[in-house]
Amino acid sequence: MADLDALIDALPKAELHLHLEGSLEPEQLMEFAARNGVDIPFRTLDEVRAAYSFSNLQDFLDIYYQGMSVLQTEADFHDLTDAYLQRVAADNVRHVEVFFDPQGHTGRGLPFEVPINGILKALDAAEEKYGITYRLIMCFLRHLPEDEAFETWKQAEPWLDRIHGIGLDSSEMGHPPSKFARIYEAARERGLKLVAHAGEEGPPAYVWEAVDGLKVDRIDHGNRSLEDEALVARIRDAGLTLTVCPLSNLSLCVVDDLKDHPMKRMLELGLKATVNSDDPAYFGGYVNQNFRETARAVGLTREHVITLAKNSFTGSFLSPDQQREHLAEIDRIAASH
Ligand SMILES: [Zn+2]
Repeated sequence: MADLDALIDALPKAELHLHLEGSLEPEQLMEFAARNGVDIPFRTLDEVRAAYSFSNLQDFLDIYYQGMSVLQTEADFHDLTDAYLQRVAADNVRHVEVFFDPQGHTGRGLPFEVPINGILKALDAAEEKYGITYRLIMCFLRHLPEDEAFETWKQAEPWLDRIHGIGLDSSEMGHPPSKFARIYEAARERGLKLVAHAGEEGPPAYVWEAVDGLKVDRIDHGNRSLEDEALVARIRDAGLTLTVCPLSNLSLCVVDDLKDHPMKRMLELGLKATVNSDDPAYFGGYVNQNFRETARAVGLTREHVITLAKNSFTGSFLSPDQQREHLAEIDRIAASH
């Protein structure tokens, strides 16, 4: 096990499913609230930590949106993003494709440019500072109406050459991908990459909609695809990557026990699964922690771990040349471990 942990630490990895707002650690929440004079219902760090332990999706979303309220300035978004990059650099993450939720900020009165300028400033500095490249993905909150997504799309117009893709997040049940078919078409016409959360809590039918209706380039989560053999075949044949988040699945009771996590089954079915942290400040760990705990719980082998690291690059939106460089390095590191 120690050998496998050392291999996990040493392998270069990409993270493809990460909500920047979900990397807000309790310490930062207190710090940003203090410097911005934002009232929060917590007096001590222990009280924030207690609020960070929830038992279901709605409790999580409540604290997640409350956490956002302390993010007020470009500097806050910069510092949040930079802190995340610094943490994952220590995990040997070399490339990130990160989500942000503009509607979580414009909905409480911040101009669109505040989050994106702060985030981009940190991401643009990351290659020199941490050796990390990036893609930025703008997510729409699916519990809100389609016309509000279009309003956000309009606000994003001046930044569309800096935004690489769009995504869909927040409460899945009752908000099928088809609700956003038109905005996905608009983004596709602009040449943006398309991803969507599907099959985390929602049924296989939602994943079908994401694949055939939205024509996504990648599926976020996708766990419940395994309930439908034809869907598994469709995803495999299309070579679509699944950005799977084991510790998130455990926190939100998508699985009752990490031992029941489908990660190994996904790989054995020939699906291109990857390991990601989703909202690491809330779900108990960054990328390597997700690798380690999953490997232990479901019995991943050395080969599985190497495949997962490779999938994180081949499933990324890096160019084929850039992907090849990372894959060659994975082979070199694996050979020396
Ligand atoms: Zn997510």
